[in-house]
Amino acid sequence: MRAIGMGLTCLAMLAAGGGATCRREAPQPQASQIEKADQARKANKADEMSNEVKKSDEQWRAELTDEQYRVMRQCGTEPAFSGKYWNTKTPGVYLCAACGQELYDSQTKFDSGSGWPSFFAPVDEAHIATRSDTSYGMVRTELVCSRCGAHLGHVFDDGPDPTGQRHCINSAALELKERTE
Ligand SMILES: [Zn+2]
Repeated sequence: MRAIGMGLTCLAMLAAGGGATCRREAPQPQASQIEKADQARKANKADEMSNEVKKSDEQWRAELTDEQYRVMRQCGTEPAFSGKYWNTKTPGVYLCAACGQELYDSQTKFDSGSGWPSFFAPVDEAHIATRSDTSYGMVRTELVCSRCGAHLGHVFDDGPDPTGQRHCINSAALELKERTE
């Protein structure tokens, strides 16, 4: 029952224009210039209120590197042991590489042996959103940045204490802001 409920929530989000998803979406029909301007005004208003970052696909493609775009906007996964942070132990805070929101502190990073940066908790639960991901014949929980909707990775329940969670994140979705102590 729970999985069905989550699926419906996901569909409702899609219907409401809930941001990027792992599914390939058909191109949107072209709106007239007036409609576009009206939509932009409404979107700006919503952004001011919710602090959300919403950009067009073209904007993201222009601002992100090819690898960041593939991971964060197309739900790609970098190969294990290939990203720049999988083995990093430098103290600091990992920010969303797309919008700069603080996501994970190095103090919650642990060596999972998976080849991807792994954390047992986010800086703030409100900075992370989850979605059910049923791609590749698996049921997984996808993690996205709550501010810009960027795909980050997945969360599993085989992590260490105190949470038991393993947030398995692509290096390409992160930017480490080093802490000087
Ligand atoms: Zn973000």
